[in-house]
Amino acid sequence: MNVLGIETTCDETAAAIVAPGEDGRGVIRSNEVLSQIAEHAAYGGVVPEIAARAHVEVLDRLIARALDRAGMALKDVDGIAVAAGPGLIGGVLVGLVTAKTLALVARKPLLAVNHLEAHALTARLTDGLAFPYLLLLASGGHTQLVAVKGVGDYVRLGGTIDDAIGEAFDKVAKLLGLAYPGGPEVERMAEAGDPERFALPRPMLGRRDANFSLSGLKTALRIEAERTAPLAERDVADLCAGFQAAVVDVVVDRVRVALRTFSGVAGHPTALVAAGGVSANGAIRRALAALAGEAGLAFVAPPLALCGDNGAMIAWAGIERLRLGMTDDITAPARARWPFADVPPAEAPRAEATAG
Ligand code: AMP
Ligand code: MG
Repeated sequence: MNVLGIETTCDETAAAIVAPGEDGRGVIRSNEVLSQIAEHAAYGGVVPEIAARAHVEVLDRLIARALDRAGMALKDVDGIAVAAGPGLIGGVLVGLVTAKTLALVARKPLLAVNHLEAHALTARLTDGLAFPYLLLLASGGHTQLVAVKGVGDYVRLGGTIDDAIGEAFDKVAKLLGLAYPGGPEVERMAEAGDPERFALPRPMLGRRDANFSLSGLKTALRIEAERTAPLAERDVADLCAGFQAAVVDVVVDRVRVALRTFSGVAGHPTALVAAGGVSANGAIRRALAALAGEAGLAFVAPPLALCGDNGAMIAWAGIERLRLGMTDDITAPARARWPFADVPPAEAPRAEATAG
């Protein structure tokens, strides 16, 4: 079984061919990713209209190259998976219309995949992980803690009430005059910095729910930066180190809470999994690995090439769904918003309250 995966939800155009392996993992036959970072850099963030046009310009060629590198023609694939959302709607439409056309012309099953679900299942592609596991999904647009119980069976344990973690990294970078995307720049500057020079808050620390809040931390950093300006390289390094240390503390605390609530929702987890662009951050990875170790769990984070958006994860999610017969048809909608995890009821409704 070989599945083509197409990803165009944000600023990466990607196409890949993946097959299920013997050992429960996936075999990546090709994985082509074309980043649009250069096109958006001047604006300090992703411009939706530019992104959609850039996807149109390169997607055909990229799919041809993914097939070519895998030594295949379209007729050899067993399914066409595409991220149908959530994301920037123009880009999502480009990928979805392309996938539908290919599926119709080549008479292949279409798999309309949720981009977040694909991030959630990447640990099975890379490590053949069994369900259930706790997922920290942290990217430029999303921050969620999710109990992954099975394909299509996800329970949200926490999320952010304001900025996503990656978004906070990007905003802090912009504020400090660092390049876009900010995450890797902040991490690089933090290496030489003193995390204790600036006293920054740890929002939500100690709370009993597993939610995040990042905007207060970002504001506190802005105030420190303004107070210290003009900023020398040393100051920027210390601010980055302080910010990253605060994020690490918050992440560890929030994941700890999610681990405590996990068993009531999904039983005993097989592992702690990190996914999304932010999981490329070394300090966050090390802290999560230590936390998993403490809890007697394995820690799984995708290799750096699979942390950001890519087609291999879409193809893999397609394989998972195809195996279960969960295919889609030509009416599958493009979705800008598409929550993938159920929110458990805070409290079961009382019988009297629902009667009548
Ligand atoms: P994604 O949304 O999954 O494509 O991931 C992109 C987001 O991850 C952006 O907000 C980046 O700033 C962030 N990111 C990437 N690398 C790192 C890193 N090393 N540390 C922190 N954030 C990062
Ligand atoms: Mg993503």
